[in-house]
Amino acid sequence: MIASKIKELKGTLAKDVTLVAVSKTKPNSALIEAYEEGQRDFGENKVQELCKKAAELPKDFRWHMVGHLQRNKVKYIAPFVHLIHGVDSQRLLNEINKQAAKNNRIQDVLLQLHIAEESSKFGFSFEEADAFLQQELPLEHVRIKGLMGMASFTEDKWQITQEFTQLATFFNKWKELKSFEVLSMGMSGDYPLAIEAGSNMIRVGSLIFGSRM
Ligand SMILES: *Cc1c(COP(=O)(O)O)cnc(C)c1O
Repeated sequence: MIASKIKELKGTLAKDVTLVAVSKTKPNSALIEAYEEGQRDFGENKVQELCKKAAELPKDFRWHMVGHLQRNKVKYIAPFVHLIHGVDSQRLLNEINKQAAKNNRIQDVLLQLHIAEESSKFGFSFEEADAFLQQELPLEHVRIKGLMGMASFTEDKWQITQEFTQLATFFNKWKELKSFEVLSMGMSGDYPLAIEAGSNMIRVGSLIFGSRM
């Protein structure tokens, strides 16, 4: 089931779109099934679960931290995490820089933008991100590779498209100056709209692994 879902989904994606399989709450056996179909990018939203899986699974998994990250937990994933999607403050970025330095790594991260109407979601507003990027002093052990956002949880496709398009426009505005490469937007319910709007990294969980209880 999982293998065929991956295959089917990959078949519909352009080559420049990266699929991150969001495997939170799923057992290692499910991840291995995806791995055997060639999947290498996996997303988790809890540090403890991510670390446990990373310790138990093959070393060539690329781990994406897609959830909200607390500063005091950065140290646990700093030795190996591939991409941190949810950076939403200078203080978090400073801590990532510090921990990456300790591990002799340059950590790739994405800034999270708050594009949804729900206040429960995290991220910079466009105004805050503009200010941040204007005064950014590059950190030696962090590379901001691009942006991430989550659209509103709604059936209103027009609204979702609006939100993704706003983020894509913002991405394009800063892309050259900051050498941005990654625009992470789109989940199981809305990834076709995200790609249409310009996403090149989608984070898909339930469509691949089934619903989470
Ligand atoms: C859970 C999660 C996803 C995947 O959600 P699905 O609807 O299961 O595809 C994507 N991004 C983030 C940040 C998540 O927490």
